[in-house]
Amino acid sequence: MKGPYITEEHEILRKSLRKFLEKEAYPFYNEWEKAGKVPRGFWKKLGEQGYLCPWVGEEYGGFGADFGYSVVLNEELEKVGTGLIGVGLHNDIVVPYLEAYGTDEQKKRWLPKCTTGECITAIAMTEPGAGSDLASIRTTAIEKEGAYILNGEKTFITNGIQADLVIVVCKTDPKAVPPHKGISLLVVERDTPGFLSGKKLEKIGLHSQDTSELIFEDAKVPKRNLLGQQGEGFYYLMNQLQQERLIVGIGAIAACERMLELTIDYVKERKAFGRSIASFQNTQFKIAELQTEVNIGRTFLDRTIESHMQGEDVVKEVSMAKWWTTDLVKKVAVECMQLHGGYGYMEEYEIARRFRDAPVTAIYAGSNEIMKTIIAKKIGLR
Ligand SMILES: Cc1cc2nc3c(=O)[nH]c(=O)nc-3n(C[C@H](O)[C@H](O)[C@H](O)COP(=O)(O)OP(=O)(O)OC[C@H]3O[C@@H](n4cnc5c(N)ncnc54)[C@H](O)[C@@H]3O)c2cc1C
Repeated sequence: MKGPYITEEHEILRKSLRKFLEKEAYPFYNEWEKAGKVPRGFWKKLGEQGYLCPWVGEEYGGFGADFGYSVVLNEELEKVGTGLIGVGLHNDIVVPYLEAYGTDEQKKRWLPKCTTGECITAIAMTEPGAGSDLASIRTTAIEKEGAYILNGEKTFITNGIQADLVIVVCKTDPKAVPPHKGISLLVVERDTPGFLSGKKLEKIGLHSQDTSELIFEDAKVPKRNLLGQQGEGFYYLMNQLQQERLIVGIGAIAACERMLELTIDYVKERKAFGRSIASFQNTQFKIAELQTEVNIGRTFLDRTIESHMQGEDVVKEVSMAKWWTTDLVKKVAVECMQLHGGYGYMEEYEIARRFRDAPVTAIYAGSNEIMKTIIAKKIGLR
């Protein structure tokens, strides 16, 4: 199924991107999973081909591409493996903050390198004591002698080990009432004194995705690295989180489609009781049901993407798409593994990796429970 916003140009991109990934990503993906990261060389190659932030304006190194290009990029990267989410995070989640709230000077300083792969980015909201409840973060940035002195600890940060530039969510006014009014966004460069890498986290899935803690001990961040207005950070997050959640939904549906493809191939080949597994009515019904749900999910997601591209308020729809598609990807992973029998539990089979990678999508970018609280509010339940 093809989204209504997908044009011939998007399909041309998909074709050349697939060719690129077949050469530069698929053969190495298992190595990256073992190494626990995607090498910088791959980021540079993505940049050389124009696959990093193609939506950035030409004056800052991009092509001014529309969001349809981002959809294609995220779908094709997901088909290689969910561990490439760090690229989608850079392209469509972090760099958009720089574009939306940066000054011309900041954009000139940072955006071109984000499009070439010289600069990998991350966003640090979550702390050991605060995830869903963002307003209760404790990282502070206090103004002193023309700089911000940043102190605090972040955790679960995607691209945390490799990032050159991190947008840190912090409190410039820790006493603000209500607390979210004290939140600001600071862009912290890797070589900032007092910015220490915390430990790389061992996860049950997304093995090629480097996720880490970040520590700030009296890190001196120049005032010129404040993003947007002081005290407006929470509102910026609320705006940008919509696209982040959409990206997660796009990945979830692409992963569902990939798992169904793998499973359909497998059940046609595998035999039991003298016939193919595909010939059992149970197999047919299971796959027919899953395929129906995936198509329903894709239709709703595509409609939401279209509305997002038209600049409509899609907070409710994005929240619905995020929880529904990521609940679905977990279900598809379980059912597809079951249809693989014992082989599905073996690392050698891609479905095993998909099974490990799926559940986190329901947790990050705002947990599915938080999505439901947003929907409830939007439909007038308080
Ligand atoms: C692999 C990975 C990558 C990540 N990448 C990043 C990143 O790049 N940057 C970043 O800042 N963060 C990142 N995160 C953090 C992620 O966004 C948080 O884990 C998530 O927001 C949940 O926060 P928490 O873990 O503190 O859970 P908690 O907030 O402690 O929640 C625990 C449970 O309680 C539920 N809950 C909480 N509040 C409510 C409520 N009001 N009503 C009902 N249920 C509720 C939650 O849904 C959850 O089920 C990442 C996490 C993972 C696992």
